[in-house]
Amino acid sequence: MNPRERVEEALRLRQPDRVPVHPHISRWAAKLTGSTVQDYYLKPEVMVQSQKTAWRLLGHEVVYIGSDITVEAQALGCQSSFPPQGPPMVVKPVLEDAARLPSLKPPKPRENRRMSLVLEALRRAEEEFRKSELMICGDVVGPLTLAGYLRGAENLVRDVARSSSHLPALLELATETIVSYAEEQVESGAHMVLINDPMASGSFVSPEHYRLYAAPYQRRIASCLRELGAYTMLHICGNTSERLGLMAETGIHALSLDAKVDLQFAKETVGKKVCIAGNLDPVRVLMEGKPEDVKREAAGAIEKAGGGGGFILMPGCGVPEPVPAENLKAMMDAVRAHGLYR
Ligand SMILES: [Zn+2]
Repeated sequence: MNPRERVEEALRLRQPDRVPVHPHISRWAAKLTGSTVQDYYLKPEVMVQSQKTAWRLLGHEVVYIGSDITVEAQALGCQSSFPPQGPPMVVKPVLEDAARLPSLKPPKPRENRRMSLVLEALRRAEEEFRKSELMICGDVVGPLTLAGYLRGAENLVRDVARSSSHLPALLELATETIVSYAEEQVESGAHMVLINDPMASGSFVSPEHYRLYAAPYQRRIASCLRELGAYTMLHICGNTSERLGLMAETGIHALSLDAKVDLQFAKETVGKKVCIAGNLDPVRVLMEGKPEDVKREAAGAIEKAGGGGGFILMPGCGVPEPVPAENLKAMMDAVRAHGLYR
């Protein structure tokens, strides 16, 4: 079974030869090639070379061509800053005044600078890793999160609480932007797209508001990509235990769960509907733990959610830069020792 087939089996809720790994590394990989965060995000050749170096070191299944989560917001006109040592940040929303909404149109991904750099990185990655048969994973932001960047988080939380009349049009604009960008990612070589939707968590919206304002739009992204033969994975930060059922009903193939969710509970609740991916604590285990701690936690995760397949071992969120390489190697060792199905 090649690496991509291993992941596909898990995404189809079947049992591969062993548990596959998506290490959720983006700019962590930059340090392996001595590159800056800026170069990693702005030079496709640096991103791909860094990912290749990481893969040679770890031997995982999924290559993540993930950018920072401000790309779509920038493309729609939000002002951003790009500190030399950190990821870009949105510094001024474009729709503090919601009356401006009709003036915004979804960008054309190939004509937008940051989006086209990601598409170029995907094309290079597809070529680079074709022979090794790895799975290439792109990423987009979720509709509610993009709406939060456009309006400003506080404004969006207020919009949701009041069910503001402009909310459907705002979420339509966000979804249309994301769908066209995600489709271009698939055209450029992504086999799977990770949807990062931190604003769809319990810290921002209730399960009922999730059902109304997050789920229908996530569902549309999943179904558009499914039509192209691509897979989707949904990542929402924080404890999502009370909305797992709603998340699983969006038609997304896999849920990438934060370390705050109990994997056994997730497997029992939605494991027959959706592939479970997770959820080593990126800070407490991967950053602060020793390799033995990582191995023990990874074995525990496999024990809780690996039974019968439909499981991908993954950190509970993006891997922070200070995480020692030894700990990610330990994650791979654990899967080779405890994640074999036959
Ligand atoms: Zn997260």
